[in-house]
Parts: sequence; C-alpha cells; structure tokens
Amino acid sequence: MNCRSGCGACCIVPSISSSLPGMPNGKPAGQRCLHLGADFRCALFNDPRRPTVCAEFRAEDAICGSSAEQAFEILTVLEISTQ
Ligand code: SF4
Ligand code: SF4
Repeated sequence: MNCRSGCGACCIVPSISSSLPGMPNGKPAGQRCLHLGADFRCALFNDPRRPTVCAEFRAEDAICGSSAEQAFEILTVLEISTQ
C-alpha cells in the first residue's frame, strides 16, 4: 500500500532508538518526531541523517490499517508489546 497522506502515526507512536538531529537520544514513544512537518511529511526525507529504521519502514495494511486512527491503535499495541 502507499502511505496515507495526513497520517503520521509511525512518526509519533513508536520509539526510535537511534539519534536524530535535535533528538540525540532518539525519539520517545508517543512523542511527535521533530522532523514530522505540519503537513505530516518527513522533513528529513532523502537526508542521510534520516534514521535507517525510518528509511526502511514501508506502509503496509497490517500496520497502517484503513485510517489514521487505526494506525495509531495498531502501532500503540505493537509498541507496548515490544517494550
Ligand atoms: S502509519 Fe502508515 S499510513 Fe500512517 S504515516 Fe506511517 S506509513 Fe503512512
Ligand atoms: S525522521 Fe522522518 S520518518 Fe523518521 S520519525 Fe521523524 S518524521 Fe518520521
């Protein structure tokens, strides 16, 4: 599937352990990434500083669901189950 515009769940819900510009200790779970723009696009797209985990992530039905609300719910369950 293609990433749904205006969602941003995967840039908010999960924690990211690798450092990002402005977030040297990574991104805590549930905190909006500093690089997620108001338009829900990644400001580091195609930037070598973008974490590998972000570059490798692909939208898929099992994670993204059929709405932003579902993506938040699914990712929250996954995040809790991997803590
Ligand atoms: S959770 Fe899926 S649909 Fe939502 S922004 Fe991330 S990749 Fe796109
Ligand atoms: S760096 Fe970009 S893709 Fe990664 S969490 Fe931040 S906004 Fe999302």
